[in-house]
Amino acid sequence: MTAAQIRQAFLDFFQSKGHTIVPSAPIVVKNDPTLLFTNAGMNQFKDYFLGNRTPEHTRVADTQKCLRVSGKHNDLEEVGVDTYHHTMFEMLGNWSFGDYFKKEAIAWSWELLTEVLKIDKDKLYVTVFEGDAKEQLPFDQEAYDEWKKWVAEDRILKGNKKDNFWEMGDTGPCGPCSEIHVDCRSAEERAQVDGATLVNADHPQVIEIWNNVFMQFNRVWDNKPAFDTWDKANNTTEEYKKERPAKLVEFTKLENLPATHVDTGMGFERLVRVIQGKQSNYDTDIFTGTIALTEQITGKTYDFSDSKMAVAFRVLADHIRAISFTIADGQLPSNTGAGYVIRRILRRAVRYYYSYLDYKQPLMHQLLPHIAGQFATVFPELQAQQDFVTKVIREEEESFLRTLEKGIKRFDEYYAAKLAEYGVEANASGGILGTTTQEVIAQIDRQAQQPIVIDGKFAFELNDTYGFPLDLTALMAQEVNAVVDETGFNAEMKLQKDRSRLATVIDTEDWVPVNDIEKITFVGYQDLLVDTRVARYRKV
Ligand code: ATP
Ligand code: MG
Ligand code: MG
Ligand code: MG
Repeated sequence: MTAAQIRQAFLDFFQSKGHTIVPSAPIVVKNDPTLLFTNAGMNQFKDYFLGNRTPEHTRVADTQKCLRVSGKHNDLEEVGVDTYHHTMFEMLGNWSFGDYFKKEAIAWSWELLTEVLKIDKDKLYVTVFEGDAKEQLPFDQEAYDEWKKWVAEDRILKGNKKDNFWEMGDTGPCGPCSEIHVDCRSAEERAQVDGATLVNADHPQVIEIWNNVFMQFNRVWDNKPAFDTWDKANNTTEEYKKERPAKLVEFTKLENLPATHVDTGMGFERLVRVIQGKQSNYDTDIFTGTIALTEQITGKTYDFSDSKMAVAFRVLADHIRAISFTIADGQLPSNTGAGYVIRRILRRAVRYYYSYLDYKQPLMHQLLPHIAGQFATVFPELQAQQDFVTKVIREEEESFLRTLEKGIKRFDEYYAAKLAEYGVEANASGGILGTTTQEVIAQIDRQAQQPIVIDGKFAFELNDTYGFPLDLTALMAQEVNAVVDETGFNAEMKLQKDRSRLATVIDTEDWVPVNDIEKITFVGYQDLLVDTRVARYRKV
């Protein structure tokens, strides 16, 4: 089956079960102060779950454009390095708003995967919530009993709160979830090592494809704490994280929702990979066309490996989608907020082709016609604005390419000077690219245990003068076994921001009660990326 046929099969299946097929919401969130980008299919329906709006239909299904590069869900570092996390991906979903519940959701997901899409039952595992005594959350016996009708018991695994319980925020609708995982290893490998032990273990061939959330509880404030006091008492991040669950139980109580809901999300690219029997999402027909075009443009060859060049091919095939769909949905690259997230992704991609595909001209905008054509019938908004999106990307590429080379050179000089401090010479080209981490470590005896630190001030200079986002400098540092002093960088950034008073931007959990936000000051992207909770309660 082609990717297009698989997407259609999903939608047709749920239509046949009485679901109305609705369009994807835009990837850029404009009317929600708590979220920059759509990161799950349910985002557009949250008012139904909160009871703020009545749904027109009680059963809907769709494919949703999602972006996971900021806030609670940030997969950026995995992208291109692994083969199944993307920045932008399609999340297939079906919903019940106060209509069917676990019995139907479970039976249908099994029917779709094993009967319609013919995935081998011996490759599938499901998980149910094991319960959490500390948080007074029960084991999901009901889901377990429903799965038992279809799945052998040794394939129904119990999972913890992190993987098998969903909540919007500190309060609000919540409930247990059941995930479906596929073991894509060969029959021999499966016979050797039990797949059950590899579920949720980051094994590249044993991957989660579908999450079924059952909303049945509502967590409400019981005796709501004064957040200032709570925060002050728990003002270090680690402590805060540790204390939070216990505090929540103390301050809130769990009620049953008057009506129960189903919210599911399945990674489309992962599903296609499983059905097409590939080892990597990038080997499916969703990505092979883009990769072939990139080969043609650059004259380089993509081979599946973890070499830098292979990563660069994957990063490009991934990032072009995120960038173009976001621009088509109205978010231009810029220096603040959602616009800066896009600019960061774009610059990251430019540096990958510049350094690892040895391509020094604007490249990504050349991929646009292909991507737009590929999605013409699913997300026609891209093709409709193809010329505009191409122009924006081209200009962004040109502008960054003007400073990229100088910035890389500055970085190399800086790093060479650092090496010289330890009596190590930079390589012939004056840089360290091409010198392996091991070689560097071997030469710096007394530093073997500790990576070289790139000064925060220097990272700031790269940012300010050459437009290198911090995460790009961090990536370049990581490649030569160095680390960036992010605290120092943030301090410099803050000084500059204090001078220019940037707009207020927040991006936190899936959802935050707006009343709790009051005035929140923008504290810098890195704070947000590193720990959203720190930003969340930092009031002015
Ligand atoms: P993972 O554990 O693999 O990071 P997740 O548990 O964070 O996934 P969910 O929030 O449950 O993912 O989202 C529902 C589905 O969306 C997942 O089962 C997966 O198939 C898909 N998915 C999640 N993140 C990504 C991503 N970055 N790229 C592609 N598909 C994704
Ligand atoms: Mg994840
Ligand atoms: Mg998961
Ligand atoms: Mg999940």
